[in-house]
Amino acid sequence: MPSPFLTPSATADADGLALLQLRRDQIIPTILRTYDDENQGYLEGKVTNTRFGSFPHSTLIGKPWGSQIVASKVDTGSRGRRNTAKRKAEELEGSAASTPAEDEKPELKTAVAATSGFLHVLAPTPEAWTLSLPHRTQVVYTPDYSYILHRLRARPGSTVIEAGAGSGSFTHAAVRAVFNGYPETAQATKKRRLGKVCSFEFHEQRVGKVQAELKDHGLDGLVEVTHRDVYEDGFLLGDPKTGQSPKANAVFLDLPAPWLALKHLTRNPPSGESALDPLSPIYLCTFSPCLEQAERTIRTMRQLSWLNISMVEVAQRRIDVRRDRVGLDTEGVRGATLYPKTVDEAVDKLRSDEQRAKRIREHRANRENPDYQPIVEDLPAYKDAASDVPSYALGRLTHRTEPDLKTHTSYLVFAILPRDWSEEDEQRCRQEWPSEK
Ligand code: SAM
Repeated sequence: MPSPFLTPSATADADGLALLQLRRDQIIPTILRTYDDENQGYLEGKVTNTRFGSFPHSTLIGKPWGSQIVASKVDTGSRGRRNTAKRKAEELEGSAASTPAEDEKPELKTAVAATSGFLHVLAPTPEAWTLSLPHRTQVVYTPDYSYILHRLRARPGSTVIEAGAGSGSFTHAAVRAVFNGYPETAQATKKRRLGKVCSFEFHEQRVGKVQAELKDHGLDGLVEVTHRDVYEDGFLLGDPKTGQSPKANAVFLDLPAPWLALKHLTRNPPSGESALDPLSPIYLCTFSPCLEQAERTIRTMRQLSWLNISMVEVAQRRIDVRRDRVGLDTEGVRGATLYPKTVDEAVDKLRSDEQRAKRIREHRANRENPDYQPIVEDLPAYKDAASDVPSYALGRLTHRTEPDLKTHTSYLVFAILPRDWSEEDEQRCRQEWPSEK
């Protein structure tokens, strides 16, 4: 089955991965099921419960990616739990075979309405997976890995070595970068080199978890995960001494001490065979949170003949753009913001803001109710906000950036190892291109 990360279908399919977006940065990954595989005791099949309501998968399956789905009106949560508890009690009393109770019959009840929130059902992408994946370690985020993969020249057909695999965030982005239509195109054009990610990780449980995820995501054919301490045993596939070379042309090290792994990334490593592609330059990136680690890595890179060494910090910042609270200045000019000058004024403003917010909420909740009489006279701004005044007239746009501390991820050290050029290569080159003589 093609991976949804590489060739997504048009709709959210049963038994496939879907990413349920609740808010901009809040995404829940789930495998869509028509049956209750987690044995939650739900009559409707698998249900994802969120703070915005319950979403039976029957309401998600078959929907085009990007669809907005409204929470189920059925209180699946409490009913499901009640049924499970009831069944358990009956089993204990030996009456499980008795006629099912009324509330166990599988029709949907219009009982207690759950919160009528909504979510968006999104197709899997490495970016959305990074925001939703189960964190087992620190992860590399999209701004860093986009830049890293670009500098590593990762492209269809490249072979990327990665260590450690951690939570698999970088792995998913790397595999998409090296994907070249495998298996369809690659089989048709046999000469084309298949892209591959060779991932190394020494924590056994993390190896198992990342392998299971890659299999679930249909990516296991493109990523080979090896359980290995790379400081000791390097990067050959299979046996650390006699194994096969991955012939990598790009390397990404997200390790506590990357300099300890560098001795295995030379043209002539101590173990014998090199893990690097002999016919291409090698692009390397290391990812270290501290400057001292970056300096130590750079010193070792120089000793091992890496060139073009440079260090980069991706200082991506989120800029929050908001509209200031609505207010009227003393002359009653709409759109001006009230800035309190004394503590008393500030307290008064807080109180009036709270009151206004409460009334706006009340108004919104009762909008459809013909008997509802909003109290608006004492709060002209509330009247504006509650009516159809366009948003630009409700206050000034302001922006705030995140504090610097929050945006530091790591120092990225890049380097290049040129390909070896022997007398033999020179002779071959002269034979192949006689005009070069
Ligand atoms: N890049 C990963 C991601 O985006 O999800 C996160 C990597 S995490 C920060 C670092 C990983 O390196 C950990 O899972 C750790 O177990 C692994 N590690 C540390 N030392 C290692 C070694 N000597 N050999 C292999 N893996 C190692």
